[in-house]
Amino acid sequence: MAVWLRSLAEHRGCAVKLTCVECELTYHPDDDRTRCDCGSLLDVTFPIPQLSNTTVFTERMTSWRTPDASGVWRYRELLPEFAGQHIVSRPEGSTNLYDAPGIAQWVGVDQLWLKHEGENPTGSFKDRGMTVATSHAMKVGAKMVACASTGNTSASVASYAAAAGVPAIVFVPDGKISAAKLGQTVAYGAKIIQIRGDFDAAMTLVQQASQKLGIYLLNSINPYRLEGQKSILFELLHQLDWQPPDWVVLPGGNLGNSSALGKAFSELRMAGILKALPRMAVIQAEGASPFYEAYRSSFRGFEPMEADTVATAIRIGNPVSYPKARRAIELTDGVVEAVADAEILDAKARVDQSGIGCEPASAATVAGIRKLVQQGVIKPGDRVAGILTGHVMKDAETVMEYHLGEGSKGRELANRPVVIDPTIDALRSVLADEL
Ligand SMILES: *Cc1c(COP(=O)(O)O)cnc(C)c1O
Ligand SMILES: [Zn+2]
Repeated sequence: MAVWLRSLAEHRGCAVKLTCVECELTYHPDDDRTRCDCGSLLDVTFPIPQLSNTTVFTERMTSWRTPDASGVWRYRELLPEFAGQHIVSRPEGSTNLYDAPGIAQWVGVDQLWLKHEGENPTGSFKDRGMTVATSHAMKVGAKMVACASTGNTSASVASYAAAAGVPAIVFVPDGKISAAKLGQTVAYGAKIIQIRGDFDAAMTLVQQASQKLGIYLLNSINPYRLEGQKSILFELLHQLDWQPPDWVVLPGGNLGNSSALGKAFSELRMAGILKALPRMAVIQAEGASPFYEAYRSSFRGFEPMEADTVATAIRIGNPVSYPKARRAIELTDGVVEAVADAEILDAKARVDQSGIGCEPASAATVAGIRKLVQQGVIKPGDRVAGILTGHVMKDAETVMEYHLGEGSKGRELANRPVVIDPTIDALRSVLADEL
C-alpha cells in the first residue's frame, strides 16, 4: 500500500497523466479516481509525437497478430503507452468504410461514407474503448470490473472481462434493454444487476459502487475508454488516405464518443497528420436531447432531461461527458442536431435495405445528415463520413415492430412476409408484379 501511494504521488515523472479538463491539476495515470478534486472530468494526456509519415500504420495491416491486427493498437503512437504491458484484445476495429451512393442520394449529398462500427467483435464501437480500459484495469490489478449500460457497453464489458479472466458486474435499467444485448451479456457470463430505474439511475449507482467497493469502473467516464475510441477516427482517416472529409457525423448519447473523436482530431493535428479539421456533427434523438438544447443556447446552460426514444443506445438524459463533447464541438466548429424517432426508423430502413444495416441509434447519424442537408448546413457537394455505431442484429424487436407492427401499414419501406399455400400457382400470383 505504501509503495502504491508513493508511486501515485510521483506522477509528475510519468509521461502519461490524468489531467483535469477544467483546472490545472494532474494525477498519476493509475489513480483510481473518476474525477478531479474540483469535480470535473479527467483526460488521459501524454506527449503526442510528430509523425512525419504514416506508412507504419499501413505496414502493420499485413499482420494477423495482436497488437498490429487490432484497429486500435495499430495506432499506438497516438495512445497512452502501456510499456511492456499485457493487452486484452479480441482484436477489435478494422471495420469497413462503405461508399454508400444509394444513401448519399437519399440524404442529398454526392459523397457519403459510412463507417460501420457494428462490425466490432461484440457488435458496437464500445469494444475499441474496452480493449484499452480493460488492459488498464489489468495493469492496476483490478479484482472486479463494472459498468452501467443501455446494453452495448454491458455486452462489451462482459466479453472483455471474460477474455481477461476478471469478474464483471453490469447495471442495466430494468426492462429497457434489447433482448439481444441482454442475451449477449448473459452469455459472456457477467453478473447482471437490473435497476428499478433508468440508465441515469444505474449510472449514479455504479459510480457509488466503484468508489465505495473499489470496483474498476468501465463506463466512458473512465478516460481510458475514450483513448481507445479515438481510433474510430484514426482508422477512418487512414481508409481515406488521410484526406479528411468535410464532415464527420455521429449519434450522441452519453457523449463519450463525441468527446473521443474531438480529442482524436486535436491530437492528429498536433502530430502533424491533419492540417484542417473536418467539422463534427452530433445527432441526438429528440426525446433525449439535452446536448442539442445546450448547443441551441450557445452552451450558456445545460439541463438534464428525462429521456425517451426508440434508439435505446442514446436514451440518456444526463450525459456524463458533456464538458468534453462541448469542447469537441467548439474545436471543430461543429453542430448538434436532433431528429424524431420516426426519422430515425425511416433512416434505419434505408440503411438496412441498402444491405449495410445498423441498429436504431446508428441510424440517427443518417437521419441527422439528411436533416442538416435540408437545412443547408451540410452542402450537397460536401464529403461526408457518418459513423454507424451498432450492428443490425442488436435490436430485432424494433425491426419487427417497424415492418410488421401496428404502424407498418402506411410505411413505404415496410417488408411484410407473405403467407401462401405450397403451390406453384399461389407463388406465381404473389410474384406476378416482379417476374
Ligand atoms: C453507446 C452507443 C451510442 C452512444 O455513444 P455515446 O458515447 O454514449 O454518446 C450510440 N450508438 C450505439 C450503438 C451505442 O452503443
Ligand atoms: Zn480540476
